[in-house]
Amino acid sequence: MKIKSAEFVMSNSDVEKCPKSRLPEYAFIGRSNVGKSSLINMLTDRKSLAKTSGRPGKTQLINHFLINKNWHLVDLPGYGYARVSKSSKKTFQSFITQYFKSREQLVTAFVLVDIRHDPQPIDLEFMQWLGENGIPFSIIFTKADKLKPKAIERHVADYKTILLESWEDMPNYFITSSSNGIGQEEVLTYIDTLT
Ligand code: GDP
Repeated sequence: MKIKSAEFVMSNSDVEKCPKSRLPEYAFIGRSNVGKSSLINMLTDRKSLAKTSGRPGKTQLINHFLINKNWHLVDLPGYGYARVSKSSKKTFQSFITQYFKSREQLVTAFVLVDIRHDPQPIDLEFMQWLGENGIPFSIIFTKADKLKPKAIERHVADYKTILLESWEDMPNYFITSSSNGIGQEEVLTYIDTLT
């Protein structure tokens, strides 16, 4: 897929206020600092698309972008801040839960994980929750430029081992790097086939 246009549509904290259009949408989510903004900019060939809505405080919002005038890319808040109160964790959970449960336009979610880290409970629990709720997802491994090919293979294998304990198949996954563009074509082609 060639990116011909990428426009910021809106940010909001209320799922009810998300665009009413029936365009298919693809949500990107992961722990804060996983490289989500960089990935969104890399995928869309834009320097700072993800940051157009990135004012402080806006990170806890649902951000819609219109791509090629025919699908929505949704930038969801990062999870797993080390220092958040229990109540703000709860608010976050209900906010995200509501999005995933009610957004009929959602085709698939992309759960981002940093390829350098061992599988983390917070990511595994989130994937488990998506699975239990019937929400299709793929994994996007980020920052692949930071590891040698052998180490990438090892980390993916670790994920496979853990995920196959509770799943019949390994979810679809992509290896990406925003620094050198690895994975861009694969992710966009995948979106294209589903749209
Ligand atoms: P977000 O909080 O998930 O939106 O993460 P950012 O996109 O802001 O990235 C967090 C940090 O990781 C920044 O310092 C980025 O420069 C760095 N980063 C993001 N993606 C990559 C990547 O593919 N390769 C490398 N080497 N660094 C990256």
